[in-house]
Amino acid sequence: MDAIPSWLDRLVAGGLLIPTGVDGLYGSGAALERVLDGLDALITRAGEADRPERVRFPPGASRSDFEASEYLKGFPHFAGTVHSFCGDERAHREVLRCVEVGEDWTVGQRATDIVLTPAACYPVYPMLARRGPMPAEGCLVDVLSWCFRREPSNEPTRMQMFRMREYVRIGSPEQVAAFRERWLERGQALVAALGLPHAIDLANDPFFGRVGRLLADNQRAQQLKFELLIEVNGTGAPTACLSFNYHLDHFGQIWRLALPDGTVAHTGCVAFGMERIALALFRHHGFDLAHWPETVRRVLWPKS
Ligand code: ATP
Ligand code: ZN
Repeated sequence: MDAIPSWLDRLVAGGLLIPTGVDGLYGSGAALERVLDGLDALITRAGEADRPERVRFPPGASRSDFEASEYLKGFPHFAGTVHSFCGDERAHREVLRCVEVGEDWTVGQRATDIVLTPAACYPVYPMLARRGPMPAEGCLVDVLSWCFRREPSNEPTRMQMFRMREYVRIGSPEQVAAFRERWLERGQALVAALGLPHAIDLANDPFFGRVGRLLADNQRAQQLKFELLIEVNGTGAPTACLSFNYHLDHFGQIWRLALPDGTVAHTGCVAFGMERIALALFRHHGFDLAHWPETVRRVLWPKS
């Protein structure tokens, strides 16, 4: 008897995900891209009344900014670094020999000044720091990036490379709190308009190690992170598709982001896991876009 195809098998057979042979590393087919495009435009419309500044960064970030961000304190296990060849001709011959005989050819690779971006908002804080003093109303930035996290898995929603869209608010504690409240409402309205059953829950980041447990408890006690959960994998364990984060003055201190009155800026962000939301739509509405509810189609593609 044939084994029942897994959710991942079905996504691949349906042409939505294109396997590469590496867990959590996929190409995307036309239908998935069409949904991601609609989703991206929908998120733009949901936030445009606030007139955010739109910026985009490549998926590689500055290694020195990354070191300063303290990401390695909480998440050394997720970090990805870019290494490259910097040897002479003899070293080149050695690389080719290793490939030929199946030995490790990467041993001579050296770390470059680029790391892989772990979350879309990370390049925003040093960008603002380099600009100098902030206006009284603070800043609001719209950013999207391919992100890398070293968490290989055969669960389709846990990818090693994925797209994250964020709105990032930098300002007084009151401004950031109001921003997060607004996006908790807007995020739920957006997902409801897409016909997706969901719930909001208090959450914590997956900090590393024993100290990480304390950091996670602290984050929960202070209610710094909420997630919007949707059933995507059909396992009964819903997946975090959006997160609403308050960093207090963590990034403000690191980057010396000061408000005009001299106080350190607080920061917060709302993050949309683009592939996770798109896969949730396929889970709940099926693989044939033409048969999705008319209301959902109109929300995603108002002009077609
Ligand atoms: P999780 O608890 O599932 O590991 P997270 O809380 O670490 O996720 P965030 O750091 O808040 O996630 O990232 C913002 C958003 O990016 C998440 O809400 C999710 O939608 C998406 N995301 C995070 N990790 C992944 C991943 N490995 N693959 C795909 N999307 C992801
Ligand atoms: Zn963020």
